[in-house]
Amino acid sequence: MRAMVLDAPGRPLLLRDLDRPHPAADQVLIQVRACGVCRTDLHVVDGELTEPKLPIVPGHEIVGTVVETGSSATRFRPGDRVGVPWLGWTCGECTFCRKGAENLCERARFTGYQIDGGYADFTLADARYCFPIAGPYSDVEAAPLLCAGLIGYRALRMAGDAARLGIYGFGAAAHIVAQVAAWEGRRVFAFTRAGDTDAQAFARSLGAVWAGSSEEPAPEPLDAALIFAPAGPLVPAALRAVDKGGVVVCAGIHMSDIPSFPYRILWEERAVRSVANLTRRDAEEFLALAPRVPVRTHTRPFPLAEANTALGFLRSGQLQGAAVLVP
Ligand SMILES: [Zn+2]
Ligand SMILES: [Zn+2]
Repeated sequence: MRAMVLDAPGRPLLLRDLDRPHPAADQVLIQVRACGVCRTDLHVVDGELTEPKLPIVPGHEIVGTVVETGSSATRFRPGDRVGVPWLGWTCGECTFCRKGAENLCERARFTGYQIDGGYADFTLADARYCFPIAGPYSDVEAAPLLCAGLIGYRALRMAGDAARLGIYGFGAAAHIVAQVAAWEGRRVFAFTRAGDTDAQAFARSLGAVWAGSSEEPAPEPLDAALIFAPAGPLVPAALRAVDKGGVVVCAGIHMSDIPSFPYRILWEERAVRSVANLTRRDAEEFLALAPRVPVRTHTRPFPLAEANTALGFLRSGQLQGAAVLVP
């Protein structure tokens, strides 16, 4: 089978011919139909996430068809369409797993990071961490739901009942979250790079009531802000934009350093927090919600062998919506 492989951080992925793997007892073998390209993949390739298995096949927004099941992976049958997210395995025993925070598991393993992922014709996944993908979505349309959607949804929940919601960085996650937030009756304010009028128009088309530069002040105080761009200076900018008691949620797995800021912009019970990974419950909730909104994903498909090109589009921020590899 073909796979795009990272041998070492900082190098381009290489197209290789690998043996098709066989599922262990808990696993299913999946024929990959589509795999989203996530900003996190870029952090793995660029070496900003420092604990990958190497070599690694990236990709954690996998939609595919089960072709073979392990002896105890009875949840699925050959032919089922499934999705595989970032959370690939948890221990079930640590303090965090036992209190329902498996996203923080001490021994968690992640798809496309410690477990070979979906930049390939086939992949293995632990059946307990896969989800049925029903509904109206094509394989390509469904792929970005598996991370951009799930992490975005978890971040949105961290904003509580914020009626005025700022979104900083309008990429794959934001384009999904904006639709859910608008559907929930929130007013969405989209902050993009200065001068990125295409992204601002895109945000308005998805329900944002205002879109402008992240260097501008917000047009009115916000109740919460979600930061999807990996840029630390956005944290004090968002703190300045939120009202008393507001929360700033950092939704990415990596961010450049946050510059120091005066205490007065945190004062009055403003809060800054991060969102890490996902739980299976997040996935079940969001995958049930998405077709009800209905969330529509904007995708740009790339052939599997052009994974490096797709990553380049993400790096330059030139993409509206999500890049998806199609084997
Ligand atoms: Zn655990
Ligand atoms: Zn991701």
